[in-house]
Amino acid sequence: MSTLPSSGMTERDEIAVVGAGLAGCLLACFLARRGYRVALYERRPDPRTGRVERGRSINLALSERGLDALRRIGLAEQVMADALPMRGRMIHPVDGEPQFQSYSAAGTLAINSISRGALNNALLDAAAALPEVRIAFDHRLVGLDPATGEMTFETPTGKTTAVAPVVLGADGAGSAVRGQLLGHGLLTESLDFLDYGYKELTIPPLGGDFALDPEALHIWPRGTSMMIALPNPDRSFTCTLFWPTHGTASFASLGSPAAIERHFATHYPDLPPLAPNLVDDYQHNPVGVLGTVRCTPWQVGGKVGLLGDAAHAIVPFYGQGANCAFEDVVELDRCLDDCADDWAAALPLFQQRRQDNAEAIARMALTNFVEMRDKVASPVFQLWRRVEHA
Ligand code: FAD
Repeated sequence: MSTLPSSGMTERDEIAVVGAGLAGCLLACFLARRGYRVALYERRPDPRTGRVERGRSINLALSERGLDALRRIGLAEQVMADALPMRGRMIHPVDGEPQFQSYSAAGTLAINSISRGALNNALLDAAAALPEVRIAFDHRLVGLDPATGEMTFETPTGKTTAVAPVVLGADGAGSAVRGQLLGHGLLTESLDFLDYGYKELTIPPLGGDFALDPEALHIWPRGTSMMIALPNPDRSFTCTLFWPTHGTASFASLGSPAAIERHFATHYPDLPPLAPNLVDDYQHNPVGVLGTVRCTPWQVGGKVGLLGDAAHAIVPFYGQGANCAFEDVVELDRCLDDCADDWAAALPLFQQRRQDNAEAIARMALTNFVEMRDKVASPVFQLWRRVEHA
């Protein structure tokens, strides 16, 4: 293990990471490996002992970019033990049989469906096992002085403060750290929300087995709406329906159980026989918002930095937000190497190296929405794929 770097920090100084989500936990592990002591602050209670939030992105697709980061802390094998490789897309038309489109010519390449909760818990376990890392749950950041690094948290027993020489915001798309920098006039941001939202629905196991092919990412492209389904280790599938939030054809337009049943029977006819709790899921699961977050700068004074969704949240249609957040951690670690742990140099370098990449995936994710909801079902697209893989 390396010794503490030469950036004016003392052994007692702890780096603060705000947000013990995917990026925050991974970052804590990487920083501990460098010899830093880390305080990881999380607004939620410990998810390893609590209840799972209903209908909030149960699983996600982990690709090579994310796996690379997990390999570096020795966690890839454990995470992949419960992963379900998806080797292509299964397109479900309104009429007729589903059609499989392989992700690679030889059918060997796959993206991996994994449980978001299990991944977060594995990362939390890894961080908590390190003597350098201390995790404070039930700590919601509500104030930050970017000049001094003084943070204010709301906890179940009242407000508390802490100071750190470096504060890293890994607190997601609605980042409070970003909000604090904005409030101090130190950053500009743009939030572009889609007029589409998402709702999760469940296809339970059928006779103890998967009700659909578990080696595929299932897509129901319907032009103005789209549904996808990813397999889970318990042999269920989590479906995510993307649809406008308002208007005559939207989440808001299905007001009764009969209307919900009619809609799915008409537009997704293979779903109702496989989803006995469809109406209940539809009525009770929330509609999530989808948007792109852009901001600049991603750091202030080498003292406060942003990464992951806090710096660049994207729409989920390329399945790359978490993968991208993991890549951020690897790159920040590389920048610290290249700058001999001088944070005032490493944080601007991190932004310089990552911002164009984040913008590229943000645009690709928006473009892929059009492809997934529309083009994958078109005869021209299918002909092109046959030529592509011939
Ligand atoms: P988060 O995972 O959001 O973690 C932020 C953490 O900060 C949370 O634990 C939160 O509780 C905590 N926090 C927030 N505010 C505070 C505060 N004030 N104080 C303290 N703590 C705070 N990505 C993929 O790579 N593949 C996919 O297939 C995929 N599918 C997706 C599907 C959907 C429907 C959605 C919405 C997203 C999907 N994503 C996917 C994107 C992915 O979920 C995010 O990019 C990823 O979670 C970002 O990680 P993060 O750690 O930056 O933020």
